Amino acid sequence: MSEAFHIGLGNDDPQIRQRSKSDSVSFWDDQAKRLSWFEPWTKTLDWNPPFAKWFEGGLINASYNALDVHQNNRKEKPAIIWEAESGESKILTYHDLWVEVQKFSNVLKSLGVVKGDRVTIYLPMVPELPISMLACSRIGATHTVVFSGFSASSLRERIDDSKSKIVITSDGGYRRGKIVKLKPIVDEAIENFDFVKNVIVLERTKQEIDLNPKDKLWNELMQNASDQCDAEKLDSTHPLFILYTSGTTGKPKGVLHGTGGYLTHIHSTFGWAFDIKDSDVFFCTADIGWVTGHSYVVYGPLLHGATEIIYEGAPDYPNPSRMWDLIQKYKATIFYTTPTALRMFMKFGDELPNSFDLSTIRLLGTVGEPINPEVWRWYFKTIGKEKCPIIDTWWQTETGGMMISALPGIETIPLKPGSGTRPIPGVKLSVVDEQGNDVPANTKGYLIIQNPWPGMLQTLWRDDEKYKTAYWSKFESTYYSGDFAKIDEDGYFWLLGRADDVLKVAGHRIGTAELESCIVSHEDIAESAVCGIPDEVKGEVIIAFAVLNENCKKDSSTLEKELLEKIRNDIGPIATPQQIYFVSKLPKTRSGKIMRRLLKAIANNETIGDVSTLEDGAAVTEVQTAFQEIQKSIKGNNS
Ligand code: ATP
Ligand code: MG
Repeated sequence: MSEAFHIGLGNDDPQIRQRSKSDSVSFWDDQAKRLSWFEPWTKTLDWNPPFAKWFEGGLINASYNALDVHQNNRKEKPAIIWEAESGESKILTYHDLWVEVQKFSNVLKSLGVVKGDRVTIYLPMVPELPISMLACSRIGATHTVVFSGFSASSLRERIDDSKSKIVITSDGGYRRGKIVKLKPIVDEAIENFDFVKNVIVLERTKQEIDLNPKDKLWNELMQNASDQCDAEKLDSTHPLFILYTSGTTGKPKGVLHGTGGYLTHIHSTFGWAFDIKDSDVFFCTADIGWVTGHSYVVYGPLLHGATEIIYEGAPDYPNPSRMWDLIQKYKATIFYTTPTALRMFMKFGDELPNSFDLSTIRLLGTVGEPINPEVWRWYFKTIGKEKCPIIDTWWQTETGGMMISALPGIETIPLKPGSGTRPIPGVKLSVVDEQGNDVPANTKGYLIIQNPWPGMLQTLWRDDEKYKTAYWSKFESTYYSGDFAKIDEDGYFWLLGRADDVLKVAGHRIGTAELESCIVSHEDIAESAVCGIPDEVKGEVIIAFAVLNENCKKDSSTLEKELLEKIRNDIGPIATPQQIYFVSKLPKTRSGKIMRRLLKAIANNETIGDVSTLEDGAAVTEVQTAFQEIQKSIKGNNS
């Protein structure tokens, strides 16, 4: 029996869940009416599996809903409070942002960008990034943001795939006190791409740049641009953006999202989950280069007229208290981050957050990976002071917005550390076995989505076939998420990691997430990753990697003994790793997720595959060395 926390915000609106149960399509029809449409739709859902068209016939604009609708009541309200790691900061009101976006829309038009064109945005976390996105959506261009940490070849692949007419970049960005040059990366990425007509360069770091004939300077273009540009009336199904997935499990996929359905999903979930009020200061740490940044840094908060903090730089730079400092300084009320960031903050100890005034925080959120219960409890206690609900939000680039989450804005339910609670209203999720049958309570299976939902991807960019096979072929007329989950006796969903990450030891299936959580719950461990290597007798044996807490003084053999005992007690002898390796870091994607596929490949002596989204090559080398040691020791034992 797991512990449960009952922390509500007193905003219960049982109507919403109730209404969604009777007819989900008419339920979403009602939700869509909360946005501003130029023309109402004629059909709520046209479902031609696996292709959905939401709010067909309706005319809408994302930028209009994010900006124009606030010009009466929130003109002077801060939309974006931006701060960089250097301390440089800027506040843009809803009016400022509206003006900038209209000007930049005119800039894009002056360079020949028309409705339907793609525009690649390769910028650091500066206000010009959301400005570029909103300008694209204002004129009906499809934006495709590429995380600014990517290499030239990754960027090239994405520009080539989307055939963007324009690339927007900057001379560079700041990361850990250093200038990361971006313009030379773009130059390399677009070499011989005649379809790229211009590169718009923002001078962010004021360093020398080589200007090529295609290059235009942001400031020069903006100087002469008119600040009036009406928003295009776009079909609800008009492609709003293409976003490539994190690449945790393979080659990144170009996920395509439409407009009306996506906005409805984001508007609804942002309000329900974050219980947003006009007085809130929202702080999401995600980079806009990932879907969390699209949905809950750009569109969600702006659709609601919220004030938000955007931070440029590493979350622990110039010091590990950077996030707490920002919360205190700007009196943030809602904080949304990832388990990987939380594990890092936890590693630094409680003293740092305890020395800041975090009392304005009233709601906490997490996304991106299963959150280990130990980390959840730390977040609840040390950051939330045991008074804030935590929303653990499960969703994917493909789902557009949250699909499983507690929703303090509309209902109060007990929270259980490590569970995302229940699906949002208006969607149907299940956990099934290989044949597609529902599994009994507390049994692990595949997480699937049974009905179309408004935020769902339209397809993979110019690859309907891959869209069908990747998501709709494992189970008939059902969306396959690729994740494992179980549903407990109270109907709560527990995410158990990716379906291709499972370990099979002596006929037993062991979830990586469960085992890693057990290891992380040891007081001296900050992070962990496990994977299997082939074994003639058992099928697979488990190898674990662990990163120690900053203050850990124990020697590794004592620690290994303690951990093995803990695993035997908490999960069972079957889950005992053959070896535990202590490493200084784990191989992670740029979005902070552990790349288990890579551990597995190294372990099985396979080629590593596409590592374009990998964060730090050093971690791979470290893990590779560890594996060579294991292989040597296995050979030694056998001889
Ligand atoms: P790729 O699809 O290229 O391998 P990715 O799946 O990491 O990349 P995203 O769409 O950014 O790309 O991430 C979605 C995935 O992240 C989910 O399928 C799930 O595995 C994981 N995830 C997201 N939120 C949660 C959560 N709250 N709990 C558990 N897992 C989560
Ligand atoms: Mg995925």
